[in-house]
Amino acid sequence: MNQQHRELIDRDRKVTFHASTHLRDFAHGDAPGRVITGGKGIHIRDKDGREFIDGFAGLYCVNIGYGRTEVAEAIYQQALELSYYHTYVGHSNEPQIALSEKILALAGPGMSKVYYGLGGSDANETQLKIVRYYNNVRGLPQKKKVISRSRGYHGSGLATGSLTGLKAFHDQFDLPMAGILHTEAPFYYQRAAELEGMSEREFSQHCAERLEAMILAEGPDTVAAFIGEPVLGTGGIVPPPEGYWAAIQAVLAKYDVLLIADEVVCGFGRIGADFGSHFYGIEPDLITVAKGLTSAYQPLSGVIVGDRVWSVLEQGTAEYGPIGHGWTYSGHALGCAAALANLAIIEREGLTANAAETGAYLQRQMRSAFGDHPIVGNVRGVGMLAALEFSVNPEQREDFDPALKVGARIAAAALDENLIARAMPQGDILGFAPPLVATREEVDEIVARARRAVDRVTDELVREGAVQAVRA
Ligand code: PLP
Repeated sequence: MNQQHRELIDRDRKVTFHASTHLRDFAHGDAPGRVITGGKGIHIRDKDGREFIDGFAGLYCVNIGYGRTEVAEAIYQQALELSYYHTYVGHSNEPQIALSEKILALAGPGMSKVYYGLGGSDANETQLKIVRYYNNVRGLPQKKKVISRSRGYHGSGLATGSLTGLKAFHDQFDLPMAGILHTEAPFYYQRAAELEGMSEREFSQHCAERLEAMILAEGPDTVAAFIGEPVLGTGGIVPPPEGYWAAIQAVLAKYDVLLIADEVVCGFGRIGADFGSHFYGIEPDLITVAKGLTSAYQPLSGVIVGDRVWSVLEQGTAEYGPIGHGWTYSGHALGCAAALANLAIIEREGLTANAAETGAYLQRQMRSAFGDHPIVGNVRGVGMLAALEFSVNPEQREDFDPALKVGARIAAAALDENLIARAMPQGDILGFAPPLVATREEVDEIVARARRAVDRVTDELVREGAVQAVRA
């Protein structure tokens, strides 16, 4: 590491509070830092000039890749014209209007309006307020509980961190808050061993039955909404088992429970469709979008409100006056301009179709590289989302001792190969979500580097006596 880079990191250690970081180790120099200075396509580089393939597109958000001048110019032009004016009491700006039209056209029939925020967490916060308002206006003040899923990820605020079903986001924060419940994760691979002989389809039915039992135990008149990602993301990159969403939606319809599709990761092409909901036949009442909306060139999120909810919101304001909700930066002109330029690139370059085609190639190459690997228990994914789940004994689906930190070690070994893949926060799972511009050759390079990293850690584990198997 060059001196300039080291000095920058040392300054950072003194002043910055980083997300998902071992705060003491980082502050005292015992955990690594890195300053990122630039990017082009699927690559980023650091202050040393070292170049990495970003196999996770930032935090699965830089869908159009890095360094797109077209988006930078759109932001610049908009800033010259009007960088900001608030959107309270009916004020608007031209990019916001055009963007809402575009989002609603992509979302398809049944969707009425878009409300903007800055990130996925605040958008889901808006969703929770909408759900409460909806049932208060309908005269159902008891109907307020929201059901999420274990391993779901919906943000890290107090309410949205409660929706998130990951231990690290609850412990020491006194979460989840009352009124937010978690039902079973649709994680077939992890549950199949216990649920002997259960097919995927039967497992989906089992998840739906568990949900129904929870609604009945709580009382259907107290349950307002269910929130889920079309593909479980941060919880492990888990595509739903066959028939899952149809089975879940049947239960929700039976008990008048709203469905919020959290499309923060899937929205705008990631799995080869405009929305994950389209891909899996989900008909949500409310949709959350962020990340791919601007490919992170500006912070922007959206709440897409369906007709059924919208009519009640309108009725509410007729009764109670203007809605008591708003962020200073909602509909920020620079964010909306970035989003329009980003969506134009996705459309013109056919990136959603590329996510389907090159994504299918990614899935095949991952399976062929890791399908029989002695420490890989499961290779899964859809479109440009993929995961490897490591296992000490793949046949028995037995997890590694968490103390071995196998996932983190493999992510570190990948970094040595100049490949960024993400050690997912719970379990030994390595996630991949390359920018949607990735080509087949780039996918080959990602898979080859990942294979070298996994092999290296396997050899280490064999030497340590943690794994018996000898590499094939
Ligand atoms: N929802 C999902 C599905 C996410 O993956 C994330 C972030 O990864 C969020 C919500 C929260 O978004 P943010 O980090 O922008 O608040």
